[in-house]
Amino acid sequence: MKLFEYEAKQIFRENKIPVPKGVLVSTPDEAVTAFHALNGPVVVKSQVLVGGRGKAGGIRFADSAEQARQISSELLGSTIKGVTVHKLLIEEKLSIAKELYVGFTVDRSARSYVALASSEGGVDIEEVAMRAPSKIARLTVPPEEGFHEFHARLLAHRIGYKGEKQAALSSIIYQLLQIAMKYDAELIEINPLVGTTEGKMVAADARLLIDDNALFRHKDFERSILEREGELSPLEKEAKRFDMAYVDLDGEIGIIGNGAGLVMATLDLVTLYGGRPANFLDVGGGASAETVKQGLKIIFTKPAVKSVCINIMGGITQCDVVATGILDALKETKTRIPIAIRLMGTREEVGRRILKGANIKSYDSMEDVVRNAVKLARG
Ligand code: GDP
Ligand code: MN
Repeated sequence: MKLFEYEAKQIFRENKIPVPKGVLVSTPDEAVTAFHALNGPVVVKSQVLVGGRGKAGGIRFADSAEQARQISSELLGSTIKGVTVHKLLIEEKLSIAKELYVGFTVDRSARSYVALASSEGGVDIEEVAMRAPSKIARLTVPPEEGFHEFHARLLAHRIGYKGEKQAALSSIIYQLLQIAMKYDAELIEINPLVGTTEGKMVAADARLLIDDNALFRHKDFERSILEREGELSPLEKEAKRFDMAYVDLDGEIGIIGNGAGLVMATLDLVTLYGGRPANFLDVGGGASAETVKQGLKIIFTKPAVKSVCINIMGGITQCDVVATGILDALKETKTRIPIAIRLMGTREEVGRRILKGANIKSYDSMEDVVRNAVKLARG
């Protein structure tokens, strides 16, 4: 689960990482009050759960209270990369001398956190990784050894810091990992970590992703989980209502499967055969006919979908139940979007017979069903 910048910064503040003074607002009037309270100039920051807000126009600067009002009224209710802005974080504007990057993420193959630091912050770190990989210092920390303060100092040194600044930077790096462990973070990062012209180090941005499997240990975020649902698109919300995972993409083939692995493999195969996935939906294990019906309806709703590929591996999920769900969806929607179906596993013969009874062909192999879905999308 992604935290909003203001939530992550509150956690930083409680854990001794310096952050700018700021006020969370949801109206232009509140923005004016915040401007005065912070003794502007200020930065007006859209609180949306997408990266690259700066480039998308979601981060603006105000030198006067009137400008803060104007910018806030423009941003509130607008969309940044398709997500509506409901809240703004108004912050004192930092005077930037240097922008750094620091973060921790999970290195699954090393089974540990890996620390990342770069003297080239502010921009996309992925871009730095491609353009100048030597500018990123990495340190993998075996859990049995533990990450100690000297590791943080070493990392700070590797990106060119000495003396007092090295101490300030390494203390931030060290605290960052303490927070990551406390909140079961799969990613925590500060980009940019700002060196101000007054010689301080301040986290100008904050990103914290909590591992969903550990959410039960962080009940304090329950309320914000509900709030976060406002960040979902209508189709994502609809899928969530039926306990399915929906992801929107930009091609023309809709994909339904059961289980993340099967769905991913189907996506890969669609791409391999020259198609482009429009979206995908994981109906999960033991899907009912109702779930399958609702899932298909969600996939059909997207205008860009030219064909649908259904790939079901029956285990707990029963193929005859899936087949019934498919027929129900076709009957209700009367869609003309062609579908290619593969049913394998538990009660597959019954499932195929049900489809055959409705004059719907099904395929045995994954290659065949995908190849046909790609062909159908071409018309
Ligand atoms: P992101 O685009 O979503 O990562 O949003 P950020 O919070 O990182 O802001 C984007 C960029 O705006 C930063 O890289 C900075 O260059 C700039 N920025 C953010 N806060 C300040 C600030 O207080 N002062 C100044 N001068 N620039 C800022
Ligand atoms: Mn940023």
